[in-house]
Amino acid sequence: MRVGIIGLGNMGGRMAKRMLGQGAEVGLYDLNEEAVNTLVGLGAEKADSPADLASKFQYIITVLPNVYIVKQTLVGEQGLLKGMKPESLLIEMTTSIPSVTKELNALVKAEGFRMIDAPVSGGVKGAEAGTLSIMVGGEESDFEEARPLLAMLGQNINHVGEAGAGHTIKALNNMISATTLAATAEAMALGVKLGLEPEKMLAVINTSTGRSFSSDFKFPNQVLTRKFEVGFTLDLMVKDLKIAMSMAEEESAPMFISSASFQLWKRAMAEGRGGEDHTAIVKSIEEMFNVEIKG
Ligand code: NAD
Repeated sequence: MRVGIIGLGNMGGRMAKRMLGQGAEVGLYDLNEEAVNTLVGLGAEKADSPADLASKFQYIITVLPNVYIVKQTLVGEQGLLKGMKPESLLIEMTTSIPSVTKELNALVKAEGFRMIDAPVSGGVKGAEAGTLSIMVGGEESDFEEARPLLAMLGQNINHVGEAGAGHTIKALNNMISATTLAATAEAMALGVKLGLEPEKMLAVINTSTGRSFSSDFKFPNQVLTRKFEVGFTLDLMVKDLKIAMSMAEEESAPMFISSASFQLWKRAMAEGRGGEDHTAIVKSIEEMFNVEIKG
């Protein structure tokens, strides 16, 4: 299978490596020369522009910071649309704004090409191991065609609806994830203030009804160890919350809990933590309690 990928950051770089390991012929484009060269060293093929990549690879994956960069990559002077062929299929894996995705999908269709949105969950570990959860919007036949390629990257692969549906559920998932992490941090910080030990609290929470991915994975590995290793930056999480909140705004939907969580995330960003891993939200909450949650 020949697949080109644009965006070789924390996620895309690992996804490209994973596909190479699975025997795919992989083409690359990224502004970061170092990221490109590392993967060329592993057998990938470098393209000079998105158009060049699309002219050589039938399947194109985009996994970029935001939809505005995706749009530029698509319609720019040397954009994908300049190189795509009738058999081309664009697989848009950026976490993105569903309404804009729908526009881009219509644009691609009008030019005679095909696109699905297929954002992912599971972080850098999932990208490395090929265990991502992949949620797909678009034509079912295009989803079925992409399935073998997606199966190299993920284990839980679901078609959720028409164009934009993948991006809709991704934003909703991250809204839950962000809120759970913030709520767990508050409870843990209060527990420490009341004299409890973090490990003992987690031992109870993770075998009780307060358990979540945040308590089960992020707290033991990132927080108690004080590693806060960058895998998914805080500013990208704030981007996702903005998407979810604007979706709610469009529907005039009340979002009491998520709104409160959103304010906490924006506060952490205002403190200058945007470039840190998103688990740094815990540090921001710790400061309010004047405690540290460490092992
Ligand atoms: P990142 O910032 O680590 O990587 C982005 C990459 O895009 C960089 O290599 C950058 O050089 C490249 N890039 C930027 N502008 C470009 C352009 N115009 N042309 C070509 N390349 C360009 O981001 P990431 O963490 O890999 O996330 C990528 C996407 O995946 C985001 O939308 C994010 O929300 C989503 N996501 C990330 C995670 C995670 O754990 N990191 C998990 C799920 C989803």
